[in-house]
Amino acid sequence: RVKEHGRNSVRQFIPEMGVTAISRLNMESAMRRGLERAEFALHYQPKIDLKSGHVVGAEALVRWYHPQIGLIHPIEFIPLAEETGLILPLGEWVLNEACRQQVAWVNKGLGAFKIAVNMSSRQFRQDDLAERVANIIQRSGVDPHAVTLELTESMVMQDVGSTLMTLRSLKNLGLSISLDDFGTGYSSLSYLRRFPIDELKIDKSFINDIHVNPDDAAIAGAIIAMGLSLGLNVVAEGVEKNEQASLLKEMRCTQVQGYYFSKPVDATAFEGFVLKNQARRVGE
Ligand code: C2E
Ligand code: MG
Ligand code: MG
Ligand code: MG
Repeated sequence: RVKEHGRNSVRQFIPEMGVTAISRLNMESAMRRGLERAEFALHYQPKIDLKSGHVVGAEALVRWYHPQIGLIHPIEFIPLAEETGLILPLGEWVLNEACRQQVAWVNKGLGAFKIAVNMSSRQFRQDDLAERVANIIQRSGVDPHAVTLELTESMVMQDVGSTLMTLRSLKNLGLSISLDDFGTGYSSLSYLRRFPIDELKIDKSFINDIHVNPDDAAIAGAIIAMGLSLGLNVVAEGVEKNEQASLLKEMRCTQVQGYYFSKPVDATAFEGFVLKNQARRVGE
């Protein structure tokens, strides 16, 4: 299956002459400048426990507010950031900012949910990754057990020997590991068992038609059953409809994430969502 990158999001928000009109070189220096000028921001999307309905996590998703172009979605700049190496300082900023926000939320008494941060391939392959992550964790004062790193299947399957060592050192810090976009890559199931991972995130391409297509429902059901039997947390991403959510609940999927509950929103709006959600749970 081909991933539908930014199907609903990116193109609509960016004017025709936006990102595509910028040359690669300009884009690279604009990104560099953007980092210095703090043009990047994190949006957060709730991860919701299907049984309790509680917000149990927040996925941090990076956004770029370019002074002329406006909002730019990650699909438009992460690949170039990855190619040029800018993903390394950007990724450090993202992890740092997400940890800082998690601590701020804990201090506000907003409830205990985990923060999830996406990691790119180049970041993951740094020799001193665990050391860098440990520094950020320590400086921010975040509880490492409240931090999840989302890695894609294809990333971890690239060099399984070094993957295993890196995963072990990250686990030793107390972090949780999630396999993002699960089902779109080429996971060997034997590695799934050997890697110290905590969570599978079923890719949204499998969730889209789950309520109308029995084949998709069968695939999602099989992934959920396998994940659960391996003792993993199973998250469905891209849930847009109530029918999808209730089907996933029947299949005993652990968590859901998607526009049906909330789009990724800024930190203030996320707090509003959590508070409203708590009130709704209490009031029902
Ligand atoms: P991802 O980690 O798989 O994140 C899920 C993407 O699906 C997000 O797009 C989210 O906004 C979108 N989404 C969530 N719910 C729904 C839904 O119900 N329907 C639909 N159609 N889409 C939904 P976003 O924020 O544009 O991010 C795209 C990708 O960019 C992410 O995929 C991730 O791979 C990458 N990314 C985002 N932030 C970072 C970051 O800080 N670092 C790195 N390395 N990659 C990032
Ligand atoms: Mg993710
Ligand atoms: Mg994903
Ligand atoms: Mg993705």
